[in-house]
Amino acid sequence: MPRRSYEPSGKAGDGALTILALGCTAGGVAVGLLEGFVSQWFSLFIMFPLMIGITAGSIGAVIVKARNVRMPVIAALIGLVGGVLGQLTVMGDAYMEARSMVGGELGLAEWYELVATAGTSITRGSSKFLVQGVGYHILVAVELVLAGGLGAGIPFVAAREPFCERCRRWYDGHDVLATIDGEKDQLTATKRVLETGDYARALRDGKPVSGQRALLFNVLRCTQCPTADAQLTVKLRVTTKKGEEKVTNQWKSMVTASELGALRAAAPTQSS
Ligand SMILES: [Zn+2]
Repeated sequence: MPRRSYEPSGKAGDGALTILALGCTAGGVAVGLLEGFVSQWFSLFIMFPLMIGITAGSIGAVIVKARNVRMPVIAALIGLVGGVLGQLTVMGDAYMEARSMVGGELGLAEWYELVATAGTSITRGSSKFLVQGVGYHILVAVELVLAGGLGAGIPFVAAREPFCERCRRWYDGHDVLATIDGEKDQLTATKRVLETGDYARALRDGKPVSGQRALLFNVLRCTQCPTADAQLTVKLRVTTKKGEEKVTNQWKSMVTASELGALRAAAPTQSS
């Protein structure tokens, strides 16, 4: 019950959405044009739409941060359009090329029918598949979903991050307050205490790290104002035998300044 998720304010800087729309679209279309150009020599299915989506989405995320866009859904929709337009640019490029080859007498729908019927071959390792008909439609749909999905997802995540409405800046202070044992029974016990809202007790009850599993108490806050709420994220870090670390979020909530103070006071001095 006491868990409070961060709610974006739904605001954005002046003119931010226009810049966001221009940036995402320009990014997606530019990569689409580039891929349309190189596809006369080679075409990378899945990779091309990924690149378009990542470009449109990453530009979107940069503008979200620079222009203080706290509207995750709107940012996602704008990024989606950028990614989809980029992918359609690749198709439009192929269409224009086909049209010029037959002397301009080729409708868009007619062209698409021809291409889908003829199909395209995909090489996977040493084997080659011919994708045509319904399979081709599915391939086109998957490519649009990939480009649009990444275009949408990346700015969505950026616009959901905590923003200090008082200082008009993104939360910028990352601290690991404490690291405690994260063995399975400890994880369950810690989560149970966190659910009660007594965050400091979760730390006091914590045991020193004994094995491969550790719980990290991370705090994200606005460094300009000590009174604003902070965001507490409890992460599980599992170290594999090969020494690789896997970190997963286990629990997240906004905490008040006094709750943060209690957490700091309860943090064991030994931390890694
Ligand atoms: Zn602030």
